[in-house]
Amino acid sequence: MAVVTYKCPNCDGPLTFSPERQRFVCDYCLSAFTQQELDKAFPQMDDILNQPADTQGGPAGQAGAQTPPGFAKRQASPGADESPNAQSAPDAQKEAQTPPSAAQAPEEEDAAFDGHAVEYICPSCGAQVVCEDATAATFCYYCHNPVVLAGKLSGDLKPDRVVPFEVTREQAMERFAQLCSKKWFVPKDFCTSSQLEKMTGVYFPFWLVDADAQVQMSANAQNVRTWNTGNTQYTETSFYHLERAGYMQLTDVPILASLRQDASRITGVYPYDLSSAKPFHMAYLSGFMAQKRELDKEKAHPQFLSLANEFCQRRLRETCSGYSSLQVQSFSATPQNEDWEHTLLPVWTMSYTHRGKTYCYTVNGQNGKICGKLPLSGKKLLALFFGIWGGLFLLCLLGGWLL
Ligand SMILES: [Zn+2]
Ligand SMILES: [Zn+2]
Repeated sequence: MAVVTYKCPNCDGPLTFSPERQRFVCDYCLSAFTQQELDKAFPQMDDILNQPADTQGGPAGQAGAQTPPGFAKRQASPGADESPNAQSAPDAQKEAQTPPSAAQAPEEEDAAFDGHAVEYICPSCGAQVVCEDATAATFCYYCHNPVVLAGKLSGDLKPDRVVPFEVTREQAMERFAQLCSKKWFVPKDFCTSSQLEKMTGVYFPFWLVDADAQVQMSANAQNVRTWNTGNTQYTETSFYHLERAGYMQLTDVPILASLRQDASRITGVYPYDLSSAKPFHMAYLSGFMAQKRELDKEKAHPQFLSLANEFCQRRLRETCSGYSSLQVQSFSATPQNEDWEHTLLPVWTMSYTHRGKTYCYTVNGQNGKICGKLPLSGKKLLALFFGIWGGLFLLCLLGGWLL
């Protein structure tokens, strides 16, 4: 498996994507590059990173022998024999990712991969780093250089679009600190700088689905009117039968395509402005973590149908206003002309453990919307309790003394 770090063409320092400047920047010589400039500097990079997982040989397989200048690429494991074909064949890839000792013991190898872990060598410092199988971009734990793992987002797994980060890490931390400052009951260490330092930028895979839906709904509705004349109260109930039928357009119905995260926490920061989505380019991942897609269209389809149903029924109900009650008798929505787009969306994530419970937070990487439940400090609640009762007690004493 090829592991790459985008290197600065001027000084060879690591390049990361800057949400603020919307450019690829080098922190060492302060150069900044556009995507087009990167493509020009490293014409083979895209081929290497986007090689389809099922390609046998060909230009992608030979990429290892033609490492471009300023582009660091090594085999996942120094002792593993990486032939041109082995690099892209899924089974052989496993072998290439495994240390030599483990490669000779298939049982051990299987056990290691059952745990969804893969090992790679950092192109910058040579350290052996382990990460989750679903990781497509990450950092070296030792030298903190950004690395992109080839083959994780290639072929069928290659995203169509990416919404680049626009909220910087500092802005995400600031948004979070603002939220905490308004909540007195949050534990003291929750908003410390060391806690906020854990804020990590992750690209999560989503399916965004466009479709036309043929919809139909039958419903009964009532309107009740009451009035008094003299001592008599009159009630008039009017009954209606409502029919709705037609076509509705569904645009960008979002389905999280990652299995390993708490979906509600990530979908909680929706929506995104998708007009700023860019055609997918691997360089956007540099400097962030990225998850590969784990849910294919077939597996995601039931979730799409349920979201489409929910959306269409809500919209049809909105057209039945002006009644005091409404009962839906029958409803159907049949999506047609579905268009599925695999898109990476930016999310800042952070977790906090308080009294054995883990609290997870997310910040929308495009507009700064926050999702997550704040922990309550037992000590602060107790202090408030005694504060109120102490105050009341004093008031009573004072009242008694005055009387
Ligand atoms: Zn540089
Ligand atoms: Zn390193």
